Amino acid sequence: MTNELKRYYSDLRDQNRKLLEQRTAECDRLSPRFRSLQNERGLVMRQYAAKKMTKQAAQSRIAAISAERKTTLISLGLPANYLDPIYTCPKCQDTGEVGDDVKKLCACALRKLQEDERAGSRINDSETFAAFDEALYTNDEQKKQALNMRRFAERYVAALPAPEKPNLLILGQSGLGKSYFGNAIASAAIDRGIRTLKAAAYQCIQSVLDGIDRREEGVEPFLKTTLLVLDDLGTEPMVPNVTVETFFRILNERGAGRLPTVLISNLDREGLFERYGERVASRMIDGALTAIVLLKGDNLRTRVR
Ligand SMILES: [Zn+2]
Repeated sequence: MTNELKRYYSDLRDQNRKLLEQRTAECDRLSPRFRSLQNERGLVMRQYAAKKMTKQAAQSRIAAISAERKTTLISLGLPANYLDPIYTCPKCQDTGEVGDDVKKLCACALRKLQEDERAGSRINDSETFAAFDEALYTNDEQKKQALNMRRFAERYVAALPAPEKPNLLILGQSGLGKSYFGNAIASAAIDRGIRTLKAAAYQCIQSVLDGIDRREEGVEPFLKTTLLVLDDLGTEPMVPNVTVETFFRILNERGAGRLPTVLISNLDREGLFERYGERVASRMIDGALTAIVLLKGDNLRTRVR
């Protein structure tokens, strides 16, 4: 479990403990009986610990105290479990882990990780495979192309984290839904529990430039994430000694680790070579690592009313 996750659960337990303290104080104000029941409970526990009371006797006293507390709560119009420990997730009792011998992450922890991932991944939540609407394509040829793209992208996600060809290069003019597929891939990958980072190329370069100012490696998240979806390649600023070098490093290091990478660009192959040079562009289109999808046709956005 990460330190961040540990802190999340310890904060959650604190919150719930405070809530229970508030409830206890509230009940004490409503009836003095709660305080005396609590004191009696403490006394029984001490006597049992000091072996002045049998386990059976202690258990039956505690049960009687609990029962009276419940009837008192009900008589005050409160739920019978109002003073029980409060857990946001009763399954793991807000520890984030389940299992006796072998601890594993509780479903609530996996959900939390996915939410964090989504929040940090710049994904547009409305653009998913499920929300995909082929009716937006009025031209039959484009509709067929988009459906093929969708099938292909869904197979790619299903094969993550190790598709046969780890990289996917989606090329085509703007307005053909390339970014939509990038989003849908990232979103579906996160749903599958794959660590995903989606960014526009200019955000990647900006992160590297910010890192230089702070003497940090701004490229690090782009190298390490399991799935990288890099959109809008070709719209980033060409900063000497930064832009081309950054993409080279990303492609080179991710390629060496066969980490899945989706690149999306309005440029065509020639455009990639012109802009990034042989060394980078040849890696982008490397057939051993990359499946290339070329979307053709008119701008979809001009048709959407
Ligand atoms: Zn849980």
